[in-house]
Amino acid sequence: IDIQKDSDLMHIVHVTAEMAPIAKVGGLGDVVTGLARACLTRGHKVDVFIPFYECIKKQHINGLAFISTYKSYHEGNWVPTNVYQGVVSGINVVFIEPSNHFFKGSNVYGGSYNELEAYLFFSRASLEWLQVTATQPDIIHVHEWQTGGLPLLYWDMYHYLSLKKPRIVLTIHNMEHYGECGQEQLGKCGLDGSLYATAEKAVDDRTIGHNPERLSLLKGGIVYSNVVVTVSPTYLKETLCSGWLAGTLIRHRDKYLGILNGIDTAMWNPATDVFLPAKFDGNSSVHKIVANRVEGKKICKHFVQRGLGLAPEGPDYDPDNVPLVVCITRLVAQKGLHLITNAINYVKELGGQLVILGKAPDARVEREFEGLAKLHNKDSSIRILLMYSIGAIPPIKQPTSLLWCGLCSEELSHMLYAAADIVLVPSIYEPCGLAQMIGMRYGAVPVVRKTGGLADTVFDMDDQLQPELANGFVFEGIDEGSFIWALDRAFAYYRGKPNEWKDIVRKVMQMDNSWNNTAGKYIDVYNSVRVRDQ
Ligand code: ADP
Repeated sequence: IDIQKDSDLMHIVHVTAEMAPIAKVGGLGDVVTGLARACLTRGHKVDVFIPFYECIKKQHINGLAFISTYKSYHEGNWVPTNVYQGVVSGINVVFIEPSNHFFKGSNVYGGSYNELEAYLFFSRASLEWLQVTATQPDIIHVHEWQTGGLPLLYWDMYHYLSLKKPRIVLTIHNMEHYGECGQEQLGKCGLDGSLYATAEKAVDDRTIGHNPERLSLLKGGIVYSNVVVTVSPTYLKETLCSGWLAGTLIRHRDKYLGILNGIDTAMWNPATDVFLPAKFDGNSSVHKIVANRVEGKKICKHFVQRGLGLAPEGPDYDPDNVPLVVCITRLVAQKGLHLITNAINYVKELGGQLVILGKAPDARVEREFEGLAKLHNKDSSIRILLMYSIGAIPPIKQPTSLLWCGLCSEELSHMLYAAADIVLVPSIYEPCGLAQMIGMRYGAVPVVRKTGGLADTVFDMDDQLQPELANGFVFEGIDEGSFIWALDRAFAYYRGKPNEWKDIVRKVMQMDNSWNNTAGKYIDVYNSVRVRDQ
């Protein structure tokens, strides 16, 4: 692999609530690890600061070592805090462990402590640790509301103390979470909350004029950071046009940028993926030489079809002529739940196969999908698998289904992407979206709604204006009709134009959505604000 080293090197410190794989809940964890590793590979010094959650499995950290105990401020007290250091995915990680109850519990989020106060503590403790160790990184990179208070603490406190050099970059991964914070709560980390209760600073835009008590850490982070990045150019435009933060973002338009996330191409690589029954890749020269690789994707498809009991017995049945659609997602409103349920009936009607791998955090939605699973899993064309954690797959009553027992949803997701002809992402909004990028790398053609990062990565096959970009099927409306129109066209291509279909599959597999490709944009951002030594 070509590794480009930068000549002008920096020290970058991420301060974040998540990091894959040790403390991952969603895309944030993947982004931090992927971006940090790409910058490291280019020669930069990178550290990741995360809370030492009780649920982190210590055996997943290389060379974990206790470094020191220091004190950081919370609510009038200086709390003894332990610092550990270790290596995760090749990246140096600093673990911050307060001696109080913060970050205790069996999950990353949802412990029985006040999350807002805990993350404010963590933000200050990270700066305090830099101060104690006299470390002056070029960039402190914060993420989401959880570390949105850090830029305030930096510019209004630590910059007046000893931290002079760092500049602050904030990435917003999802605008829905805004870190609602009372003035008094902000006071607990040592800032005077009343100073931030103005429209220009951190007052929550939804309550301006009638509740100055309510602040937003995300808004404060936007105002106080040197650069604000969100995770795709289209999501950037959408957030400038609508949503409660639009006014603030417009005011700070000059420092607001959209940079697409990358995917981890080492973890998501069909040529080496240990979870697949057969490997394959999009490089046609390899296809010619290694015969079984030509068949690799087909083998994965047959394996999944048999394993899930999707293939009915009978002489007329040809698994290769049945398009297999997969949808791997959290089952939440953002992801287009009504379109996902529509897909069940429509794929059946069109004579295709559909596997949904999902999990609903909301009990009502979970019950609805359990009902759908009960109804449709008897069928030979639909499988609805409700899981998103390590555990056994619920047995499906088919003779070959035993193959699947004991798989966790992560392993299963690799196999499903590899088996799929079509990956479905019908989101109502999608800041960036990884599923379509992963699907493409595994040769699944995307069918997506034109929103956020989906609009930046998938371009319609029938768009005459830019045929060179065409790599999938795109619809715009949030109604059933628009969605069905796109799915129809995908099925028609699959069945009616097999050669063109093969070309699209090859094309999507060869696209470069890696961090190697996109990290350079972050490096440019860092360079644009850093302070150079005299
Ligand atoms: P979001 O961060 O909003 O959940 P993304 O598309 O950015 O959406 O990332 C979703 C990631 O989580 C993808 O890697 C997808 O494969 C994975 N994922 C989602 N649901 C499941 C599930 N039930 N089982 C396994 N992986 C899942």
